[in-house]
Amino acid sequence: MKAVVIHKAHDLRIEERAVEKPAAGQVLIAIKRGGICGSDLHYYRHGGFGTIRLQEPMVLGHEVAGEIAALGAGVAHLQVGQVVAVSPSRPCGQCEYCQKGMQYHCLDMRFYGSAMRMPHIQGAFQQQLVADAAQCHGIAKEVSIEEAAFAEPFAVTLHAIVRAGALANKRVLVTGCGPIGVLAITAARVHGAREIVATDVSDFTLSMARKMGADHTINVATETDGLTPFKANKGSFDIMIEASGNESALRTGLEVLKPRGALIQLGLGGDISIPQNMIVSKEIEIRGSFRFHEEFALAVDLINKRRVDLKPLLTEVVPLADAARGFDLALDRSRAMKVQIAF
Ligand code: ZN
Repeated sequence: MKAVVIHKAHDLRIEERAVEKPAAGQVLIAIKRGGICGSDLHYYRHGGFGTIRLQEPMVLGHEVAGEIAALGAGVAHLQVGQVVAVSPSRPCGQCEYCQKGMQYHCLDMRFYGSAMRMPHIQGAFQQQLVADAAQCHGIAKEVSIEEAAFAEPFAVTLHAIVRAGALANKRVLVTGCGPIGVLAITAARVHGAREIVATDVSDFTLSMARKMGADHTINVATETDGLTPFKANKGSFDIMIEASGNESALRTGLEVLKPRGALIQLGLGGDISIPQNMIVSKEIEIRGSFRFHEEFALAVDLINKRRVDLKPLLTEVVPLADAARGFDLALDRSRAMKVQIAF
């Protein structure tokens, strides 16, 4: 079977890998679709991010859906032929944080396609994947395989909503409208936010933001005063979801957050400076949001029950042989939102 393997920046190869056999409690999945994520793109563009660098070839990918091809011993709740979304979250279940129900902080996490540890954790962009049955979430018949592959990035944003707390009567600012920002808008909408304002520097992504539930969008590159009215009376927003990793987005966001507002930091970036006095004087809370665990099942449920329609976010499905073109397309924020690979 074939897999999408990153060797170093801009060195992406389709390689042969041996098909594994599912052990007890595991299943073999014929992967059908895989969404290209921002972290895959970081490995593709830069060979890693921050201090995390590729040290050996690694199969990319963690946003996948497929069809059960074989069952290991003792798997009762799945059937061969069933369509599933596969959660890439693989906590140990044993450590202090797993025991507390905080699996995102597992001390022995084996999240797919991650160079955070050595040997690297191989990803799911492969034609046949062995996974634990518990990672597989059944997809409703009327849901397309492309939508199923959105469960993972959607779960990331649902975790951010959990970090934000109840959104009833809340005004929300989302900064950065890549796939995660736009999915965060959808997640905030389905959780009852009163008003959602979104910012970005691309008119294309802002049009997607409106389609996916933003009430108002501002292109901060061309409408430089767009957020100014929201600074009145110490700020207008209860919650800010920062999905750009950009320092100026964070700074302007803090100016428009209300006193006691919360900033949910979802975007990854580098070291940036923070206007400390504003955080102190407005008593702003900064909360990180990293990955997800139980929110994967919620994402699948919302997709299965048609509470959300994520199809408009799909830009193109490229065949496996064209994976590198898919990565290049996904990097182009003027025309691409989510690009998926067909396996
Ligand atoms: Zn653990």
